[in-house]
Amino acid sequence: MPSPWYPSAEVEPVKIVIFGPPGSGKGTYASRLSKRLGIPHISTGDLVREEIRNQTPLGKAIEKYSSSGTLVPDEIITEILKKRLASELLKGFILEGYPRTVGQAMELEKITKVDTVVNLNVPDSVIVDRLSARLQCKTCGTIYNEKTLKPRIPGKCDKCGGELFRRVDDQPEVIRERLKVYREASEPIVNFYWSKNLLKDIRNDDPNVDPERVVDQIMKLI
Ligand SMILES: [Zn+2]
Repeated sequence: MPSPWYPSAEVEPVKIVIFGPPGSGKGTYASRLSKRLGIPHISTGDLVREEIRNQTPLGKAIEKYSSSGTLVPDEIITEILKKRLASELLKGFILEGYPRTVGQAMELEKITKVDTVVNLNVPDSVIVDRLSARLQCKTCGTIYNEKTLKPRIPGKCDKCGGELFRRVDDQPEVIRERLKVYREASEPIVNFYWSKNLLKDIRNDDPNVDPERVVDQIMKLI
C-alpha cells in the first residue's frame, strides 16, 4: 500500500530545512527523507564542492577563502544556493547546511517561504562517538560511519568508488570545540525559527539508532 507521505499532484511542495550540530546525522536523514518524499536533498556542502570541482568563479573564490583560513562570506554561499533553488521551488526541497547565520535565514526568507525547520538535538557524547567513527569520500563527499553506515567495500565509496578518509576535524578534542562554536552560532537561528513557529524538535540520545526510525519521526512532524 502506498504510504500517505508520497507526494501526488495535489500535494503542495514541501520546503524543509534540516538543522543540527555537526555529527547529528542531518545529511543522512536529509537524503533518506528526500527519497521518501520524492523531493531533492540540497546540501550547501555538496553545492560548494561542486563549484570548486568545476572551477567556477564562485568555486575559485571559495577556495581562496578556505585556503587562507577565513570564513566564506554569507553572500557567496547564498548566491550558490539561489542558483540551485531556482529550479526546485515548485517541487519543494530538503535543505541542509543552510542557514548557518540569522543573516542567511533572512536571505532564505527572501528566496522562498520554508514550511518546517527540523531541529536535531543530539547529546555531545553521542556526537563525539559518532564523528570519531566517520569516514568521508575524497571524491564526492559522501559520509560513511564505521559503526552505523559502513560502505559495502571497506575504504571505498559505494556511489563513486572514491577513497574514504578520516577528516582531521573529526578528532574528539576538535569535535568538542566545533560543538561549542555550533551551539553559540545556532542559538540565534533556533530562536529565529522558533519565534516564527516553524521549529520542530527531534531528540536522539541513542548512538546506534537506525536512521530510518529517525526519518519516521521526522515524517510525523512535517
Ligand atoms: Zn564517492
